[in-house]
Amino acid sequence: MEPKIIDGKAISAAVKEEVRAEVDRLKTAGREVTLAVVLVGDDPASAVYVRNKKKACEAVGIRSLSYEMPADTTQEKLLTCIAELNGRDDVDGILVQLPLPAGIDEQAVIRAIAPEKDVDGFHPVNVGLLAIGMPRVVSCTPAGVIEMLVRSGISIEGREALIIGRSNIVGKPLAHLMLQHNATVTVAHSRTADLPAVAKRADILVAAIGRPRMIGPEYVKEGAVVIDVGINRDTATGKLCGDVDYDAVAPHVSAITPVPGGVGPMTIAMLMKNCVELSKMR
Ligand code: NAD
Repeated sequence: MEPKIIDGKAISAAVKEEVRAEVDRLKTAGREVTLAVVLVGDDPASAVYVRNKKKACEAVGIRSLSYEMPADTTQEKLLTCIAELNGRDDVDGILVQLPLPAGIDEQAVIRAIAPEKDVDGFHPVNVGLLAIGMPRVVSCTPAGVIEMLVRSGISIEGREALIIGRSNIVGKPLAHLMLQHNATVTVAHSRTADLPAVAKRADILVAAIGRPRMIGPEYVKEGAVVIDVGINRDTATGKLCGDVDYDAVAPHVSAITPVPGGVGPMTIAMLMKNCVELSKMR
């Protein structure tokens, strides 16, 4: 069976094109969509993420403001910066790049961002709204997974969806989104007993684990849809790889996302979309 390869690059480009049109429309109406990006410390991976996010802003016409603070920044100073951004009428979204340096309480920082400017959807108020089925702004990676499925014409309703991974930024919010789309949802994790047997039931299998190529054909039902959220560095080759053993799994599935070029590009596109949505809500 030849699987459908879900092209995250193409789908994210379509999303960004729509965002661009909306940004232009708002600009004509006198509103410049603005995202404040805060980076603390000198983690090289975080620097790359921040650079990519700023580039994406530029590509869709969103104004980005950059706040770069040294690694020894105190929590108090960071909270002061956030409070100032919360108060600024010209700022629609605030993004604090995670992880933060040791000594800064990440949860305190997330809670300090005004929920109506929380572009990542990490604030407990936004998480709670999602959990009660009234999503406002949703974590970008899970939102991107749903967008890919919907735009690929893959139906979610009534199907068995398995999410492997229960993190606050991917697994848990994705479970809520899948419920909203009327899937029958299972969340598996590191303590799940007999994961291959659980996984074999899934019509839609999402891997958000962080273990290179862990998911082989023994986990996958014939004809399932497989979404690979994992971004790992293969220690042998140094190349990026997913949580799914793509070459071994692909012949057994109806649709699959590659890594790179799958969920990754969707995350940034959804960040741009969230920013515009926040601007429109204010
Ligand atoms: P995390 O470390 O917070 O969570 C990993 C989850 O996997 C945990 O809930 C854990 O219970 C589960 N797990 C670990 N080992 C397992 C095992 N052997 N069997 C079953 N479950 C197991 O990770 P995260 O932040 O959710 O990220 C997961 C992966 O997704 C990582 O590779 C990360 O780089 C990637 N990621 C990609 C994007 C993107 O834009 N595509 C965004 C965020 C995260």
